[in-house]
Amino acid sequence: MKTNILNLFNLWRYYKLKHTDYHRYMEKQFVQNLRSLWFMGLCLAAFLFIFAIMTAVPFIYNVHIVMARRGIYIAAITFVIAIGIMFFAFFSRHKYNQYRQGRHISNKLIYSLIIILYTIIMLSGIYLSVWSNPNGHAVIFMVFLICALFPITSSPGFNLSLIASAAIAFSISAVLYKNPSEWIMDLLNLLTVVPVAVASNWYISLYKMSATVNEIRLEEERGNYRDESTIDELTQLKNRQNFMQTLQRCLVTTRFDDKFLCLAIIDIDYFKQYNDYYGHLQGDECLRSIGEALSNLQKTGIYAARIGGEEFALLWFEKDKNRAKDTALIAQQNIWSLKIPHKTSEISSYITVSIGVQVTLCDAHNNTLMIYNAADKALYEAKERGRNGIVVYGGDEKTYIPGKPKI
Ligand code: GH3
Ligand code: MG
Ligand code: MG
Repeated sequence: MKTNILNLFNLWRYYKLKHTDYHRYMEKQFVQNLRSLWFMGLCLAAFLFIFAIMTAVPFIYNVHIVMARRGIYIAAITFVIAIGIMFFAFFSRHKYNQYRQGRHISNKLIYSLIIILYTIIMLSGIYLSVWSNPNGHAVIFMVFLICALFPITSSPGFNLSLIASAAIAFSISAVLYKNPSEWIMDLLNLLTVVPVAVASNWYISLYKMSATVNEIRLEEERGNYRDESTIDELTQLKNRQNFMQTLQRCLVTTRFDDKFLCLAIIDIDYFKQYNDYYGHLQGDECLRSIGEALSNLQKTGIYAARIGGEEFALLWFEKDKNRAKDTALIAQQNIWSLKIPHKTSEISSYITVSIGVQVTLCDAHNNTLMIYNAADKALYEAKERGRNGIVVYGGDEKTYIPGKPKI
C-alpha cells in the first residue's frame, strides 16, 4: 500500500476501510474523543487549581513579599481559567450523555471543542512561560502543551497541525516579549522539544488508529463466524438479513456524522413477464448479471444486497443530500448497459429497473423500518410514474428522474 502522508488526513483510505466500516471507525474515534475531552478537561482543571493554590500560598503566609504580589495575580488568573475548563469538561460530558441517549451530535462540534481546549492550554502555556515567568518554565510548558495532546485525538494530521500552530504561536510571543538572549534560548528549547513531540505523537496516533481498525476487523470476523449465511446464493451479494443488520448499524453509527445515509431500493420492471417468456432459469441468469453489475459499485464503497426475489438495495453516504440521485443514476445506467433483451416488457426492449431512494440525516428518531418504508414508497411512486425511473425522497425537494426513452 502506498503510504501517502496526505492519506493520514483521510484514514479510511489509508486503511482501505469500506464505507460502512469507515463509519464504525469514526464512531469509535468520536466516542474516544468525547471521553478524552471530559477526562483531559478535568485533569487540566485539577492541575491549574493546584498550580493556583501553590502560587497563592506564599502570599497567604507572607513569605517572600516581592514574588508573592506577582503570584497572587497569576493565581487569580489561573483559578479563573481552571473554572472555565471545568465548565468545558462538564459540557463535553453533557454532550457525551446526549449522544448516548441517541441525539445527533456533529463531529465538527467535537473537533471545535478540541481546538478550543488546546488553544486554552496553549495560551496558558505561553502566558505562564513568556509573561509571568520570563526566565524559565518555557520548556516545562512546551512539554506540558505537547503531552496534553496525546490522549485527545488519534488523527496524526490533526495533531501535527495543532503542535505546529502551538510552536509558531509560542515562538512569535517569545520573540516579541522577551530579550534576545532569552528568546534564543526558548527557540533552542523548542527545537529540541518539537521533534520529540512530533515523533512520539505520530507513533502514538498511528498505534491508536491501528488498534481501532483491528478492533473493527475482529468484530467483523466474529460476526462472520457467528452468521455464515450473509451471502445470497444466486447473486453472491449480501442477503436480506445482512442488509437489515447493516442498515441498523449505519443508523446507529451515523448519528454523530453530518453525512446523509442513502438507501436505494431497485426493482426490475416487468420481471414476471420476463420469467413467463424466457423461463425461470433465464430469469435467474438475469438476476445474476444484475447482481454482478451492482457488486461493481462496491469498489467505490457502496454496499449492495439482494433483498428479495427481484429486488436489490444499495446503502451509501453522501455529504450533499442532493447528490444521492447520482449514485442511483449510475446503478440504473450500469444495469441498462447490460442490454439484457426483454421482449415482453411494456416500456423497452431491454431489462429496465425502477429505483426508490430515501436520504436521511440520522438521529435516534429514525429507525430502520421508517427508512426502509420511505424508500419503498419512493420505489412505488417510480413504478406508478411509468417505471424505468428514479424517485428520491429526503432531498431539498422530491426528485423524479424519468428513464431513457423506450427502445
Ligand atoms: P413490476 O414492474 O411492477 O415490478 O412488475 P414485476 O413483474 O417485476 O413484479 P412482480 O412483483 O409482479 O413479479 C416479480 C417476479 O419476480 C415474480 C417472480 O416470477 C420473479 N422472481 C422472484 N424471485 C425470483 C427468482 O429468484 N428467480 C427468478 N427467475 N424469478 C424470480
Ligand atoms: Mg418486486
Ligand atoms: Mg418488479
